[in-house]
Amino acid sequence: MLAYGRQSIDENDIAAVAGVLRGDWLTTGPEVTAFEDALAGWTGGVPCVSVTSGTAALHVAYAAAGVGPGSQVVTSPMTFVATAATAMLLGASVVFADVCEDTANLDPEAADAATSSRTHVVTAVDYAGQPADYDALGKVADRADALLLADAAHSIGSTWNDVPVGALADMTTFSFFPTKNATTGEGGAVAVKDAGLLDRARRFRCHGLVREADRLRSPDEGGWHQEVHSLGLNYRLPDVLCALGTSQLGRLAFFKERRAQLVARYNELLADVPGVRLPAVRPGADPMWHLYAVRVLDGRRREVYDRMRAAGIGVQVNYIPAYRHPVFEDLGYRRGMCPVAESFYEEQLSLPLFPDLTESDQDRVIDTLRAILS
Ligand SMILES: *Cc1c(COP(=O)(O)O)cnc(C)c1O
Repeated sequence: MLAYGRQSIDENDIAAVAGVLRGDWLTTGPEVTAFEDALAGWTGGVPCVSVTSGTAALHVAYAAAGVGPGSQVVTSPMTFVATAATAMLLGASVVFADVCEDTANLDPEAADAATSSRTHVVTAVDYAGQPADYDALGKVADRADALLLADAAHSIGSTWNDVPVGALADMTTFSFFPTKNATTGEGGAVAVKDAGLLDRARRFRCHGLVREADRLRSPDEGGWHQEVHSLGLNYRLPDVLCALGTSQLGRLAFFKERRAQLVARYNELLADVPGVRLPAVRPGADPMWHLYAVRVLDGRRREVYDRMRAAGIGVQVNYIPAYRHPVFEDLGYRRGMCPVAESFYEEQLSLPLFPDLTESDQDRVIDTLRAILS
């Protein structure tokens, strides 16, 4: 089965990992700082905290923001469930606002209408790699006196009006799962602009531990002493994986270029295929494409999905609106609450896209789709 997305690992990536295994540190050592510094090279200098997954990054970001019982998070339903689940596990309630018809990104007007005096965070998702409209969403968050969070699991390396993802919101989360734009196996990071929020994010990653002498409540306890001032978890990304991450970031510009070439080729060769709508790009967006998300018209998405899979092409659907998972239905969220997201979902199909996809494999995807739809 041809995958819809997969990692690209080269000999340098392997050597980077092997080098760490031969050294003194397996967990928190010099590779963590090196990786976080390399990441900041992609976020316009906004400092980054590496963690064990994109889900952990969201959890850390919400915890650092003080999200808890009584707070409300406004977000897009066109995402993986973790964007909402991590806020709800902290006790917050989540309000889903509808998406834009062309990009499937959070619609600033819908987000504005969904905010209230309890809104603590507005979370955008850069669907398929295309940044959301952060100019408009920044104003929405300001009006609600809320923080703006970017779930950039799809979009590291993208820019919006020449500003890199990572510098577009108060906080930005990344995922380094193998299908994403760069991988550490499992892994993630959060980029944080505000120094206080950054400090809370770092601490949450490591049990909330305080070790600095000038911050200890009992500084005379002894040299071994450390204190927990607020609760946290162990979300530390180990040195072994950070070394892989640094090596992958060294290839990210190439990944972006290769993904752009493949997207341009899909756009060109699918232009005359009937019954599909190709992805739209907003002026100002320079996406690092994570997904090639087409829309299959005339109610044929299910059929096309089944027939592509039967032909050995691992197409995917991203995503069922998050509130349609039974856990949300059981809480009273109802189908149809975000009609634009629902109709997007009804038609959406992700075609294979990853840096090592060959042109002949891509031709097979295109020919198979053409044969089904013509
Ligand atoms: C992948 C993904 C996540 C979760 O990242 P993991 O590293 O798999 O935990 C969150 N949000 C979005 C939009 C994603 O695509």
